[in-house]
Amino acid sequence: HAKHSGDSRHLKFADGMAQRSITMMNMENDLRHALNRDELELHYQPKVGFDGRTVVGAEALIRWRHPRLGLISPAEFIPLAEDSGLIIPIGRWTLATACQQMVEWRRRGVAPPSVSVNVSVRQFNDSALIETVRETLARTGLPATCLDLEITESVMTGDVERAVNTLTTLKAMGVTLSMDDFGTGYSSLNYLKTFPIDTLKIDQTFVRDVGQNPKDTAIVATIVSLARNLGFNVVAEGVETEDQVALLRENNCRLFQGYWVSRPLAVADFTDYLAQAREGAVDAATLDAMGP
Ligand code: C2E
Ligand code: MG
Ligand code: MG
Ligand code: MG
Repeated sequence: HAKHSGDSRHLKFADGMAQRSITMMNMENDLRHALNRDELELHYQPKVGFDGRTVVGAEALIRWRHPRLGLISPAEFIPLAEDSGLIIPIGRWTLATACQQMVEWRRRGVAPPSVSVNVSVRQFNDSALIETVRETLARTGLPATCLDLEITESVMTGDVERAVNTLTTLKAMGVTLSMDDFGTGYSSLNYLKTFPIDTLKIDQTFVRDVGQNPKDTAIVATIVSLARNLGFNVVAEGVETEDQVALLRENNCRLFQGYWVSRPLAVADFTDYLAQAREGAVDAATLDAMGP
């Protein structure tokens, strides 16, 4: 009897596994067609200055509008896209779409200063990345300074010299670089010395309990002063509450991104947001004077 129930448990488990891998296979197959079928879309989330209103940038965040499953978050399909290599054409699409959108916002006079595009490790290591960026900027006519690329610390796990070369070439083109999820990955301070980056994004895991957990508060304060001392901008990610903002301001963090500002928005909503934000916005010099 014991054996029987063991078997059936095993069978259930195996069924679950099979089910799961069938789903994954379908998903990979569907993802392969998602580009051609126009099912991918970019949502945009503002990054704001010290006043909590002035838009200093926008991050493009991909979503997959699956015909049967609805809106799928990148956490679910980006890993799949990475494993299958589909991240390369998807990444090209994302870059082109974000750049075209910026050109359109600029034409309408509502554009944020720059758009940030996430670049995953596999994209970063793709030998065509630099050419793709160069070609996309040329084709869309977007000035390179209006494009920011968000990379993660994991680009450090590969060939470091090559990584530095790639970043240096992108910087030389005028593109700015942000280190995403800072503090959660490969934690050598050495790369901060050699990487020509512009911005550190404090990961939301540290921001979540800032002011509640003294250790998180200390980490946030330390990242801010590290960034300042090295001449980088610093953005707090995942800012959800007024209390977090107060604590971040107290610790000299002056750039915020998160639900407290706005959720990521579809293009039409983000365009409205930009138009409204412009009305309440202050100029860069005033904003600078407000900061700590
Ligand atoms: P990320 O680049 O660190 O993006 C921040 C994530 O935090 C986004 O999740 C965003 O929606 C979410 N977020 C923003 N504010 C808040 C907040 O106040 N509270 C909480 N709890 N979450 C907040 P999303 O859009 O699901 O993206 C997840 C990750 O997927 C991104 O993390 C990024 O690593 C990746 N990703 C998104 N779009 C792309 C893309 O176009 N290309 C690549 N390669 N990766 C992407
Ligand atoms: Mg990001
Ligand atoms: Mg992040
Ligand atoms: Mg993340």
